[in-house]
Amino acid sequence: MKMKKVTALLLASLTALAMTACGGTPTAGDNAGGADNSSAESSSEEGSSSEEESSSEENSSPEDNDSSEGNDGSAEGEGAEASGEAEGSEAGTSADGFTTAVEGKLTMATNAAFPPYEYVEGGQIAGIDAEIAAAVAGKLGLELQIDDMEFDSIIAAVNSGKAHIGAAGMTVTEDRLQNVDFTDPYTTATQVIIVQEGSEIAGADDLSGKKIGVQLGTTGDIYASDVEGATIEQYNKGMDAVQALANGIIDAVIIDNEPAKQFVDKAEGLKILDEEFVIEEYAIAIAKGNEELLDDVNKALDAIIADGTVKGIIDKYITAE
Ligand code: GLN
Repeated sequence: MKMKKVTALLLASLTALAMTACGGTPTAGDNAGGADNSSAESSSEEGSSSEEESSSEENSSPEDNDSSEGNDGSAEGEGAEASGEAEGSEAGTSADGFTTAVEGKLTMATNAAFPPYEYVEGGQIAGIDAEIAAAVAGKLGLELQIDDMEFDSIIAAVNSGKAHIGAAGMTVTEDRLQNVDFTDPYTTATQVIIVQEGSEIAGADDLSGKKIGVQLGTTGDIYASDVEGATIEQYNKGMDAVQALANGIIDAVIIDNEPAKQFVDKAEGLKILDEEFVIEEYAIAIAKGNEELLDDVNKALDAIIADGTVKGIIDKYITAE
């Protein structure tokens, strides 16, 4: 079956698996960001049966989520306070000796519709990636600034210098490595399949010939395109795909496991299949060839992995089952 092929894309490492819980439910029960995003999905009903629908997401209409002021680029992650150790430093050198050529602010491109990794809450971008990036920035003596954009635009934003880093639950793939560099991985994730309760689809092998919803430009999108005879419906947000599934417009959604849990909780009559058919690693994207910044961010990231900061952040948002 063609799905086997996707495993070749993986850069999964079993050691990294130990870093994170394999599953769980979010501790942030008041995950307003997720809720906001799901309520925005009413807009997807207007035409989610068509791939053209994705273009509607370009307009950040007020209903897009109730804290859209966080969408235009200047929201700081709630974890930005973690950069407090930057105080007194014009940027570039932190108290514990980390340095970087970047001045003042470390800018991060993300797509804040991917809870628990990044989502809008109270007008700010919160989540695991926001907090990890803030901690990295803090190590480097910088303040974090988060720019929200479509997932599909993040690598271009990083390569053009619009953002220093891309942190968006982004999976390391061979294809992406052609266009962008990645830091060391900071966690692992799996791709899962969401279906309607009572669906005849019991695993990846049953997806042939089905209508599969994905988030545009994600690894789920790539894996879906490997399924024989399937029709792929691409959405700009994972929750749009999940809502389309709840509405019976599509037969399944392929998406990352933790957002899957949050989206399924916010929709009716859906379930996640047990089969975790692809294991992936998330890392931070850095402009291709910017070895210096890659090195600086890696040092900072490795330090906060080693001292347990990253595990603490992940455990705050994801509890093991
Ligand atoms: N991990 C998936 C990818 O990198 C999805 C990321 C996302 O939608 N933010 O493609």
